[in-house]
Amino acid sequence: MFSLHKTKGGVHPPQHKDTRDCPVVYVQPPKQVRIPLNMHIGAPCTPCVSVGDHVYVGTLIGDGTGLCAPIHASISGTVTSVATEELPTGQTAPVVEIEGDGKMEQDPNITKPTYTTKEEFIDCVRASGVVGLGGASFPTWFKMKAPEGKKFDYLVVNGMECEPFITSDFRQMMEHAGRVIDGCTRIVEALDIPSAVIGIEDNKPEAVELLNKTIAEKGVGDKVEVLAVPTKYPAGGEKVLIMATTGRAVPAGGLPVDAGCLVMNVTSVSRVEEYFRYGEPLVRKTITVAGDCVGKPGNYRVPIGMNVRDVIEEAGGLTKEPKKVLMGGPMMGRAISSLDCPVLKANNAILCWDDLAVLPEQSPCIKCGRCVRACPLSLDPCGLAVASNNHDLVKLDELGVMNCMDCGSCAYACPAHRRINNAIRNGKAFYRTETRRLAEEAKGGN
Ligand code: SF4
Ligand code: SF4
Repeated sequence: MFSLHKTKGGVHPPQHKDTRDCPVVYVQPPKQVRIPLNMHIGAPCTPCVSVGDHVYVGTLIGDGTGLCAPIHASISGTVTSVATEELPTGQTAPVVEIEGDGKMEQDPNITKPTYTTKEEFIDCVRASGVVGLGGASFPTWFKMKAPEGKKFDYLVVNGMECEPFITSDFRQMMEHAGRVIDGCTRIVEALDIPSAVIGIEDNKPEAVELLNKTIAEKGVGDKVEVLAVPTKYPAGGEKVLIMATTGRAVPAGGLPVDAGCLVMNVTSVSRVEEYFRYGEPLVRKTITVAGDCVGKPGNYRVPIGMNVRDVIEEAGGLTKEPKKVLMGGPMMGRAISSLDCPVLKANNAILCWDDLAVLPEQSPCIKCGRCVRACPLSLDPCGLAVASNNHDLVKLDELGVMNCMDCGSCAYACPAHRRINNAIRNGKAFYRTETRRLAEEAKGGN
């Protein structure tokens, strides 16, 4: 039913998937976790625990209204602090600190959720606390609600994992294939979506084979299919994946639902299924810990809120002082200046580097156009970078700055090593601030 469609642009960075054969290892329960209540796109949660409260694994510690996802304790123990703090990301949010009792006791109130209607299903997904686990952190339940007059024709599952180094989604598919396929089947049935396609880069043939075998064993081939997609970064970008698997284009400024698609990361699908099977909300995350400074690179299952420094210790510690530590992959990850920061729901990698840390010097643009050819969304990265540096709001608008998905392909392709996507990221922030200011001014003028 599904067939491969051509996509534009993209680049071929070295894969470095050295941890692909490292099975997921559960870390020792940490002595403490610090859980920020803003681990999703939308409004931060309001704390619903106080200092001195005893919590179990899975106890609700924060919730809110509107675009938000509830947050749960990831270890059992005592709440030692609830305070609004500045986070390493520069954002400010409430943080719940829990001192562990080492028991990892599950909340006795946890029960297997049940539903009979689409609305009840979505409410259950909300209660699971699952967000886009590939890095997007958009509340999954919210995405499942198609706006009035729109519908989903396809569930598009993102098993691409196109960022170099990261192998946590690959391990999820290899170790929990049944859960992934049951999750797809459950979601399409509950939301009345005709079919699902799981896109997987063709550098993971074992995952393609295993999921196909699982689909055949479960007899759900009429609902779920696997499509091997040529390996090319950023094949896992939402719009790129939709084009590759369905041939549909998301309109500029639009959402996947505008192309009739619900897109979910493969680990998010698996976690939703896990919640319906066992009732435990999202409290742990599988993280690829890698890089030339890490003692035992591999895939580690860690409680959310665990300190990055403690995670690295569990991964054999640092063999040398890293020049750069990234949360996420080398293309889209975020550099952190301190290891004393918590693992968040959407984190999927910690990379500690010495030898890959130094970027080559930038030189002037030679107008070669390689950045334009590399852009999967047919943008003009060079023009956008110039408009960003000039704070040219009109030009940024004209060139569609907000359509940029920050994939970094343009910068990777640039022979002058220009930090094009950094400039565009600043341009997006400027565009957001200025358009908001102008809207407020216009409102005030009325
Ligand atoms: S970072 Fe933006 S402009 Fe650059 S290639 Fe990606 S989508 Fe295009
Ligand atoms: S790839 Fe680099 S050098 Fe070439 S046009 Fe783009 S910014 Fe200029």
